[in-house]
Amino acid sequence: MVKEVKKENMNFYNCEVCGFTYKDRSWAEKCEQYCTEHHACSSEITSHAIEIQN
Ligand SMILES: [Zn+2]
Repeated sequence: MVKEVKKENMNFYNCEVCGFTYKDRSWAEKCEQYCTEHHACSSEITSHAIEIQN
C-alpha cells in the first residue's frame, strides 16, 4: 500500500516497496505496482520522486 506522509501541511506519497517519495499519488501507485511486479525500480518512474528532509 502507498503510504501517505504529511509534511509541512503537504501530503506526500511513499512507495513502501522501494521507499521513494512522490508528491503525486498516482506516481507512487505506479512505482509500487512496478516494484511489486519487477522487484526493481523503473528509472522512468523514480525520476519523478522527490526528496523530503527529516
Ligand atoms: Zn517503488
